[in-house]
Amino acid sequence: MKNILINDGLSESGKNQLKKFGFKVIDEKISQDKLAEFINKNHICGILVRSATEIRQETIDKCPTIQLIGRGGVGLDNIDVDYAKEKGIHVVNTPSASSESVAELVFAHLFGIARFTYHSNRTMPLEGDFNFKNLKKNYSNGIELRGKTIGIIGYGKIGQEVAKIAIGIGMKVLYYDLYNEEENITIEFYNKEKYNTNVVKSNLLKTLNNSDFITLHIPKQKKALINKKELGEMKKGAIIINTSRGGLINEKDLIESLNNREIGYAGLDVYEDEPKPSMDILMNEYISLSPHIGASTQEAQDRIGLE
Ligand code: NAD
Repeated sequence: MKNILINDGLSESGKNQLKKFGFKVIDEKISQDKLAEFINKNHICGILVRSATEIRQETIDKCPTIQLIGRGGVGLDNIDVDYAKEKGIHVVNTPSASSESVAELVFAHLFGIARFTYHSNRTMPLEGDFNFKNLKKNYSNGIELRGKTIGIIGYGKIGQEVAKIAIGIGMKVLYYDLYNEEENITIEFYNKEKYNTNVVKSNLLKTLNNSDFITLHIPKQKKALINKKELGEMKKGAIIINTSRGGLINEKDLIESLNNREIGYAGLDVYEDEPKPSMDILMNEYISLSPHIGASTQEAQDRIGLE
């Protein structure tokens, strides 16, 4: 029997599929310091992780039985991929299984900010019973997304899913991407009907200058892409969303821009300091927050598990 360790969870559908193919599935959370010992003791041939477990050179060296490292999700920052490959270990991930989920989270933040529900959910439990009229007034200046321009930075798998939703709700799409040139987009409806249309490729500056909403969908970079200068190029009152990787936006510059009421709001799923984001970010009233749940829908977990 070949043993597979599932260290950060896997959907039932994924586990069943492994069992069907004759693997023994060990679904236990082994702490980082005990991992190598457990792998060796249980003759684990494959380890499946998400983002929590790190598989570094040291673990790879200590565990000669490992033949496969699977990462449920996109980013491979928690695995020493090149080193593993040098040692002949297969490293696989599930790059497109969660694209739709992340794209929908972008709109969860955008709709929540546009009508202040992200904020009224903080104040209604505290004040809703005695301050209803004032709260109603405070939140009565919302906006619609329809007719606005969304600037997508990084037009890969997730960026394109964002574009499809945006077009569906009547928005104009601009995008900036270092490599992608594609301007045609095909949207498939529930009944398999298809609709072809266009998005506009632009450069970074024009995308920042002309978008009501900016959303980031690029991989982790060596340094922040969005700093004081780039925030200064955005429209006054614009909204920025980051569901990609912490560190793509300089958080200090973001807070300054929000507090000076230059850009309007931000929606963040990822943070410079995870899992302990700064209190300045967490307490800022112009930021809609979620705890890195972009890929975490039931549907995506199923697709990730099976893939
Ligand atoms: P992708 O590789 O399909 O697309 C990335 C795009 O960015 C590519 O088209 C590439 O050409 C472009 N790009 C790369 N560097 C760039 C730069 N400096 N400037 C402009 N364009 C650049 O990736 P994806 O699947 O769309 O994922 C995008 C991001 O979302 C990744 O950072 C991934 O880690 C993150 N993500 C987050 C969650 C979450 O839970 N919040 C879940 C899944 C993915």
